[in-house]
Amino acid sequence: MTQDDRMKFAPEPYKIKMVEPMATLTKDERKKALATAGYNTFLIKSEECFIDILTDSGTNAMSDRQWAGLMMGDEAYGGSRNFYHLEETVRELFGFKYVVPTHQGRGAENILSSLTIKPGDYVPGNMYFTTTRFHQERNGATFRDVVIDEAHDPNRDDVPFKGNVDLKKFQALIDEVGAEKIPYICLAVTVNLAGGQPVSMENIRATSELAHKYGIKVMYDATRCVENAYFIKSREKGYENKSIKEIVHEMFSYGDGCTMSGKKDCLTNIGGFLCMNDQDLYTRATGMVVQFEGMPTYGGMAGRDMEAMAIGLRESMDEAYISHRVNQIRYLGEKLNSGNVPMVKPYGGHAIFIDARAFLDHLDQEADLPAQALSAAVYQYSGVRTMERGIVSAGRDNITGKNHHPKLETIRLTIPRRVYTYAHLDYVADSIIELYQRRHDISGLKWVYEPSVLRFFTGRFEPKNGELIKGY
Ligand SMILES: *Cc1c(COP(=O)(O)O)cnc(C)c1O
Repeated sequence: MTQDDRMKFAPEPYKIKMVEPMATLTKDERKKALATAGYNTFLIKSEECFIDILTDSGTNAMSDRQWAGLMMGDEAYGGSRNFYHLEETVRELFGFKYVVPTHQGRGAENILSSLTIKPGDYVPGNMYFTTTRFHQERNGATFRDVVIDEAHDPNRDDVPFKGNVDLKKFQALIDEVGAEKIPYICLAVTVNLAGGQPVSMENIRATSELAHKYGIKVMYDATRCVENAYFIKSREKGYENKSIKEIVHEMFSYGDGCTMSGKKDCLTNIGGFLCMNDQDLYTRATGMVVQFEGMPTYGGMAGRDMEAMAIGLRESMDEAYISHRVNQIRYLGEKLNSGNVPMVKPYGGHAIFIDARAFLDHLDQEADLPAQALSAAVYQYSGVRTMERGIVSAGRDNITGKNHHPKLETIRLTIPRRVYTYAHLDYVADSIIELYQRRHDISGLKWVYEPSVLRFFTGRFEPKNGELIKGY
């Protein structure tokens, strides 16, 4: 075996200094917990989960340096030194001029959408994200998906940058509604709901050229920008020898600002920020942040949280860290693939998306909610908590009230950063492969309670056949 073979799935590039015991519930306890939660994995208690891969949001493990940083919190109401550290770090790594802190990513989305969108506007994006689209629509915009067609096809594993913008779709929207009705394009790097799929540097450059030709701003959803940079480094010609830090900096050099959820690639548990180069937008954003978040030098975060975020953002650019992270996802994907479990391919940067439509090919998207049923069944069977990303998450059309029918009907196995080891992933894969062998025992679900907005968070369901997994 060569060093390269041994490092194909390199061991965790960290040592474990503090541990948190996990729950092991019996089958009957899991069934009860699931029924109490209305078959919605969001509503299960954390202590009822064995391996919790619901989300990578805010579930990161912080380093010893970040914990030390918490002790350096300057909790002054105005002018906390931790804010200046965060601001300096973001400016250096992202290259944007202005940084407005917010309590999390959606706080930044709220401010950006409110300040730039007029009723009747259009916001194109490379696939929607739940909270992002919500804020665009709340301010009167219509979201238009301009991602390449391949992003909607789980079986196209030959496309290395499945998150790319389709420039023809973007141009067609400009021709149809006029550039003055498009305040910005929301460019997500990576694209969460497409399966954590990256955007190439070439596409970022071309998208930015087209947008700027018409005076349209390019605002990134920067949530997973470090994972995107890793894919550029490993897949795009000319970037093999660049550092992650250089690639992130170049990605953002083509745009006008970003919203950031600190709960993902910043390696913290809470926080976010909004960046821009436009001074006028910055001034107006600080006016709004005081109304909804807090002073422009804390924006809903404690001083210590800003310190942990500044340190975490720098750590996230470490090559050993990011390569291990993305390889963990690939490891889980390859294991599930060996059991023929249908998935979105290529594997993404933060999660494996199982194709629930193909897994539960006896169920109907609208009538049986296959992804919701599958996420519930995985929990009941193994104690592993995953998330629905299908028709339930997609919600209803604002105007017609009809369900959106996303092509991707998936459950998401989202790996928290620096939390689980390869042994945990083995358990996840083995359980799901076993469940796949008895997939036709799984019943569809029906709505019991459907909330009017962001319904996936708190909706409740029950099995259509009384029993979720026949005979289990
Ligand atoms: C999580 C997320 C957001 C929202 O951020 P929060 O911190 O959860 O408010 C926005 N966009 C994407 C792609 C995300 O994954």
